[in-house]
Amino acid sequence: MAEAKYRGRVGTVRLFVQWGFLVWVIFIGIRFGMFVRHFESGGAFPFVARPPGVEGFLPIGALTSFKYWLVSGEFDPMHPAALVIFLTIVFMSLIARKSFCSWLCPVGTLSEAAWKLGKRFFGRNFQIWSWLDMILRGLKYLLLLFFVKIILIDMTATALAEFLAAPYWAASDIKMLRFFTHMSMTTVVILGILTGLSLLYKNFWCRYLCPYGAFLGLVSFIGPLKVRRNTDQCTGCQRCSAACPSRLPVHTSEAISSPECTGCLTCVENCPEPNVLQMSPPLRKQAMPAWFFPCLVIITFAVGIGAGMISGHWNSVLTYADYQRLIALAPQLSH
Ligand code: SF4
Ligand code: SF4
Repeated sequence: MAEAKYRGRVGTVRLFVQWGFLVWVIFIGIRFGMFVRHFESGGAFPFVARPPGVEGFLPIGALTSFKYWLVSGEFDPMHPAALVIFLTIVFMSLIARKSFCSWLCPVGTLSEAAWKLGKRFFGRNFQIWSWLDMILRGLKYLLLLFFVKIILIDMTATALAEFLAAPYWAASDIKMLRFFTHMSMTTVVILGILTGLSLLYKNFWCRYLCPYGAFLGLVSFIGPLKVRRNTDQCTGCQRCSAACPSRLPVHTSEAISSPECTGCLTCVENCPEPNVLQMSPPLRKQAMPAWFFPCLVIITFAVGIGAGMISGHWNSVLTYADYQRLIALAPQLSH
């Protein structure tokens, strides 16, 4: 009974985790903004320690340092937290589906808030025709292919080392901050269009355009945990499929292997039958406790980040003097 009650509340637990994480990310962003402001003001603004977690906003650079780590065995000392966060999220996807997207990613949280707001406003969310939806879903894989080609395939060890030693990479977090604080009109228009589309269509950015999510989806494909349906006890009511934000045919599948599944557990929450639908490994007969998956997501993320910190792969080697130079240089830097 308590189990069923909790299962019905898993969406609330997820919302709590999502918004808690978003607040934490905003806090990191503000701290980093204060850190940069100290240097921009020539020391008039009080010094605030740089939060390394800001490097979570550098996934493309992390992919570069990931390849460099593979080919040279060297862990990038400039932005080590970027690689730690990247590896943690990839590992999470391997063991807990694409859960980063629906439990932690700030863009995923805002996208979900947008379509829920749109649903309230317009009375429903819209759906793109199936044929066009399939073509558009391919866009994120094309973008992923582009990054795989230019970074993982084309960049030699020398090119990687040069990129990771360049001032552009050292200042990439500062440039990312400037992207948000000094938006061009083009950026504002593009963000406005994406926000509008996100109000109308469920998870527009994540479903069609996010190459990071595309990559995590492919990684999750080989993971053991999947939403599994007990076909003997399923009544075929289709509530699971109707509720799935990724539009997956849950009620006709024995196990959801799709790279589009984010492990949000909305289908599980909406199934009226006890223990018919659950996130579980293969061949498990008994139902997994409902708290298992949320705990797995949170603990995996915490352990990954903690391991990076304890092993000394978290803080940048860049010094106060380096940042004095880089922050003055950042507006002129281009790759
Ligand atoms: S299948 Fe279930 S867990 Fe996967 S995205 Fe759909 S609702 Fe979420
Ligand atoms: S909601 Fe549950 S009972 Fe209904 S079709 Fe889906 S799995 Fe079967």
